[in-house]
Amino acid sequence: MGNEIFQEAKRRIDRRRMNQQVALSARLDEIQEKVPEVIQVRRQLAMTSAEISKLILQKNTDIKAGIARIEKVNLELQQKEKDLLRQNGYPEDYLELRYDCPLCQDTGFVDGRRCRCLVEEMRKLSIEQLNHISPLQKNTFDTFDLSFYPNETDPKTGQNPYMSMQRVLRYCRQYAENFRPGNPSIFMMGETGLGKTHLSLAIAGEVAAKGYNVVYGSAQDLLRRVENEHFGRGEDQNTLETMLDADLLILDDLGAEFGSNFTQSIVYNILNSRLSSDRPVIISTNLKAGELEEKYAKRVVSRLFTQLVQMRFIGKDVRQLKRQREMAARK
Ligand SMILES: [Zn+2]
Repeated sequence: MGNEIFQEAKRRIDRRRMNQQVALSARLDEIQEKVPEVIQVRRQLAMTSAEISKLILQKNTDIKAGIARIEKVNLELQQKEKDLLRQNGYPEDYLELRYDCPLCQDTGFVDGRRCRCLVEEMRKLSIEQLNHISPLQKNTFDTFDLSFYPNETDPKTGQNPYMSMQRVLRYCRQYAENFRPGNPSIFMMGETGLGKTHLSLAIAGEVAAKGYNVVYGSAQDLLRRVENEHFGRGEDQNTLETMLDADLLILDDLGAEFGSNFTQSIVYNILNSRLSSDRPVIISTNLKAGELEEKYAKRVVSRLFTQLVQMRFIGKDVRQLKRQREMAARK
């Protein structure tokens, strides 16, 4: 189960431990040069420890008294090391090995079980694997260009795309800026080329930059992975678990995937599980309400409409307008 991820997580933790040992050697070299007395004290300390082992091997002597005497010397030496370091402007524990995770001392295990840090590292790796498919950096709030949305009221609908999208943009920006794991979920609807993916990615990038776990992917890709893993095709990388656990899950282009009973029930489970545990999900679709109802069971569609913040994208296909502008600029 996700063996590759486990191995890589373990490697990363081993690397942390080695880095800490290297850092300690560097500190030792520094002290050797700047405050050599400290190093002498440490040698004496090592010698007294060796004396204890010797004592234990000698059967006839008074071991207890001997150990007590040596321990007293030991404590004095330890204190001397601290004093010397402090007097020379170093922290008292400057020559102690440090750990990124004191819980397992960077071994990845506590009492034979996976430490929190190992589990966390595996979770990060699963997310990285899912997310490497998407270029998170290009689509930001700043590159979202409102000038592509006509600033005129449609006489039929009474809506002004520019004003409407300005509100959408503002909401998304604030959503990302003030992101909390208990944020509301969002349902983005509208035809292709109106900026749903752009704003989803902008939110993903900003929330991920805050250190939250974000899983972003097309519904098609993510659901296919879940299905393959469920039926034992390809390597099991806990995709479903990662989607359920992420601080923010973004499912792009719901409805483009091949609909089966299996994907239907997975979508329902994801919605159900995330909404009931207050974990936000952002779902976007090109489908209209009627088309969604044809594709998904009622229980799925009614959740989407009642429990998620509705966000409608209106206007003309931005990609087409962009091409037209580029061509006009070349003339
Ligand atoms: Zn740990």
